[in-house]
Amino acid sequence: MTRRPDGRLTHELFSEDKGPQDACGIFGVWAPGEEVAKLTFYGLYALQHRGQESAGIATSDGERILIYKDMGLVSQVFTESDLVSLKGELAIGHCRYSTTGSSTWVNAQPTLRPTKYGTLALAHNGNLTNTGDLAELLQRQTIFASGKERGATTDTELMTALIAGQDEKNLEASAMAVLPLLEGAFSLVFMDENTLYAARDRHGVRPLVVGKLERGWVVASETAALDIVGASFVREVEPGEFIAIDENGIRSQRWSTPDPKGCLFEYVYLARPDTSIAGRGIHATRVAIGVQLAKEHPVVADLVIPVPESGTPAAIGYSQASGIPYGAGFVKNSYVGRTFIQPSQTIRQLGIRLKLNPLREIIEGKRIVVVDDSIVRGNTQRAIVRMLREAGAREIHVRISSPPVKWPCFYGIDFASRAELIASGLELEEVRRSIGADSLGYVSLEGLIQATQIAESNLCHACFTGTYPISIPADMSEGKMRLEITPVQGAN
Ligand code: SF4
Repeated sequence: MTRRPDGRLTHELFSEDKGPQDACGIFGVWAPGEEVAKLTFYGLYALQHRGQESAGIATSDGERILIYKDMGLVSQVFTESDLVSLKGELAIGHCRYSTTGSSTWVNAQPTLRPTKYGTLALAHNGNLTNTGDLAELLQRQTIFASGKERGATTDTELMTALIAGQDEKNLEASAMAVLPLLEGAFSLVFMDENTLYAARDRHGVRPLVVGKLERGWVVASETAALDIVGASFVREVEPGEFIAIDENGIRSQRWSTPDPKGCLFEYVYLARPDTSIAGRGIHATRVAIGVQLAKEHPVVADLVIPVPESGTPAAIGYSQASGIPYGAGFVKNSYVGRTFIQPSQTIRQLGIRLKLNPLREIIEGKRIVVVDDSIVRGNTQRAIVRMLREAGAREIHVRISSPPVKWPCFYGIDFASRAELIASGLELEEVRRSIGADSLGYVSLEGLIQATQIAESNLCHACFTGTYPISIPADMSEGKMRLEITPVQGAN
């Protein structure tokens, strides 16, 4: 539950087990003559799946930067008149899920800082791993005083303050001085009064792409956001690249040697299915994962159903490869999220039913293969199996289109701690019993990587393997890495 600045409370309707939470969606546009705030609104609307806690847009008319941000979904935060008042020639926007700093208005993005050559507004997707060092550096530079007063609680605030406090001739030079100091995962869009900037960490953990409008340029977390605003895909921002966009077009500089380690989980769950990474559609990749899953974990059954919607492409692939018919076994309420109406205890206990309701006439008497993208704590899958049994399923075979999630993510995705990850403490058979399924199969790491068509050496798979490509300081990992096994609930 979150209190907005106006005193209203927002409530999570579906809070039993939210699964992996995205870090953020970012969007930037340089397009004089266009309605840049509205383009940014629709870009963020397309990226809403990457963060649902807060949203913000900053625009510049060439002389001053205006910003509007608030808690809630993109559609809840902005009214038509807000967007009309955000006039300008360039804009950046952000939708947030918090991985560092609490979920409060003050931590919503874009962040804003005065600099000696104008104003800096910045939006970030990812998670820095050296915030302790950066905070010390900032203090040494004696520019931290205002940050302290305002409670610079996020890695984004630190980054913004560091860039704004540089004694360079312009923002471009300041960014080039600070980028090599940052460690961890970061895809950034930022701006001053006249120029749109974008940068990506040298591992390219989180996606970032450039698109072309008829009269301008767009930078976005995913290609789906380019499609939605009518921009054509140009290329990805390369790992270790910094770009600036203004009336002279795009300028590119390298601030580090690339060492690609793209997030494997983007392919499984995080990115939209209509997004492309490295030239291949995510939907096609997920269908291929489902094909692989069927090869690795065949079963005799009557119907393959997805847990909508993230399990849908893999269920289609499983059906294609196995020859078992595909069908819809659940109806999903896509509109469940935050509400200003406080749910009663009785409604809360309905939990997942608020989001998914089984179709009894489809399920009754059948041997069901149910395909989902991942198991985090196991609560969702336990509820799904229970609902399918109540709807009359004869057998329930759970198939998961990712390997067991055993390790926390420190690069911008909130999987919670090792102790909370069900596969960290339990063997396969114990997980199966815990969720109550007749059988359980995860796709192998090798099978998953093969389906992405990306070389293993270019991917991060730390949440499956515990091999972290960017080192994690002890104070950051402490607690999250501890494995205290809690008693299994609902084992049968
Ligand atoms: S640890 Fe997992 S979720 Fe995090 S970046 Fe690596 S693959 Fe992605």
